[in-house]
Amino acid sequence: MSYQYRKEIPETVRTDVLVVGGGPAGICAAVAASRQGVSVMLVERYGAVGGNLTLGSVSPILGKVAPGTMYDEVITLLAEKHAGEEKIETRNGKEIHIDAEEAKGILIRFLRENHVNVMLQCSVADVIKEGNAVTGLVVTSPTGLQVIKAARVIDATGDGLVAFLAGCEYHIGREADGLTQPVTLEFTIDHVDESKAIMCFGGSDPVLLPDGKKYADFCKECEQAGILPKNVSIVRLHKTFYKGERNVNATQMNNISGLETADLYTAEVELRRQIEVIVDFLRKYIPGYEDCMLKTSASTLGVRETRRIVGECMVTDNDVEQGNHYEDAVVQDAWFLIDIHNPAGGGQAEGHSKMAIPYDIRYGALVPLKVDNLLTAGRCISGTHRAHASYRVMAICMATGEAAGIAAALSVKMNVSPRQLKPEIVRSALKAKGVDFIHS
Ligand SMILES: Cc1cc2nc3c(=O)[nH]c(=O)nc-3n(C[C@H](O)[C@H](O)[C@H](O)COP(=O)(O)OP(=O)(O)OC[C@H]3O[C@@H](n4cnc5c(N)ncnc54)[C@H](O)[C@@H]3O)c2cc1C
Repeated sequence: MSYQYRKEIPETVRTDVLVVGGGPAGICAAVAASRQGVSVMLVERYGAVGGNLTLGSVSPILGKVAPGTMYDEVITLLAEKHAGEEKIETRNGKEIHIDAEEAKGILIRFLRENHVNVMLQCSVADVIKEGNAVTGLVVTSPTGLQVIKAARVIDATGDGLVAFLAGCEYHIGREADGLTQPVTLEFTIDHVDESKAIMCFGGSDPVLLPDGKKYADFCKECEQAGILPKNVSIVRLHKTFYKGERNVNATQMNNISGLETADLYTAEVELRRQIEVIVDFLRKYIPGYEDCMLKTSASTLGVRETRRIVGECMVTDNDVEQGNHYEDAVVQDAWFLIDIHNPAGGGQAEGHSKMAIPYDIRYGALVPLKVDNLLTAGRCISGTHRAHASYRVMAICMATGEAAGIAAALSVKMNVSPRQLKPEIVRSALKAKGVDFIHS
């Protein structure tokens, strides 16, 4: 059954650049566009900005990009109250801790101070297309449906929702079978005894328990024995800013689509059950965690992988493995491991996360094919499944957001479409603000 529906919807806003999604990519896109002197509106479906960084309780910020991008500025802001904090460097690279509660305030102020207009609790429901161009969006708001007209739109929804609604081509999951990385609900525990308690950044961390046993092996045994939930073969215990606290990245459910509401509900129920099981496991078996307690948990399910919108070019396996550099790069020296949480079981899909070599992201990976006026930023940009497993981390999402924001604003000012805009123009603007393009 389907229904036809007609309704007069008021146009409430006109803006040069409309950013959809207030996660790490969307925030940087909006601020970067605004700094180019155009009007910018950011629409976010939840009541706070930050995306996974705040409401997803995801910490630490991982990944690297060339010096001088907005990532540097954002992490400085987030760490301002925590000067002198010990820096942790692991196989994952530099781990930048965040206080998700504090970050909500810091990030919304960052937007406001940079003259970005923000609509919270407004969710994009549809696009308005004129010819091939997206010229506006229909959003749901507390007062009902509204239309926002925009000269350029940046899809920073993570899910590539705007591009999907506009009819862009996309890929989901592994090229062979379409399976996606599992979903996770992150949480924070407190009352950890720092004099005894370990930390663990992942399955390849050689950290030992006091009896000399490898913690990762112990987790695997507990998963096999049914003490830990199915496929939870490692309980990652990340440091936070505060003594006695750990951010726990462990719950896992496979075969869940981040785009199906029934799946989202199933996962929410199961992963909240898993949180209880994992806290019990820590209290019973891990020294220093005997008195630990659940403090907070993510307000929204952590979805690692949905649509990757096909662009003029894509970030390829080869780019990430060989560290390719390009003259049309708008993000340089992006780096993170090829971190594929196993779509078909526990642990890593390839045994362990493979090394990447710092690589470039070309402008075309942010420009969807065929549909005009639209750019993508963050985890929905154009790339392969394996490349996405590297560029999806927050440092790199911020850098693609900044590049997309500059491109959107300059394309308005120069009266060309994002597709016609020359990548050199975006690069020059990035260089002018101090981004170090050392390779090309
Ligand atoms: C469980 C898990 C653990 C992770 N661990 C790490 C880690 O340790 N370190 C790291 O750096 N990265 C980690 N990542 C990856 C990282 O968090 C994400 O890939 C990154 O946040 C993507 O940034 P983004 O801005 O593209 O999307 P998001 O952070 O997802 O932000 C998208 C925003 O768009 C909004 N939005 C979506 N749809 C609409 C709509 N229709 N209308 C309006 N707004 C909308 C959302 O509410 C959200 O605020 C992890 C991811 C997961 C799921």
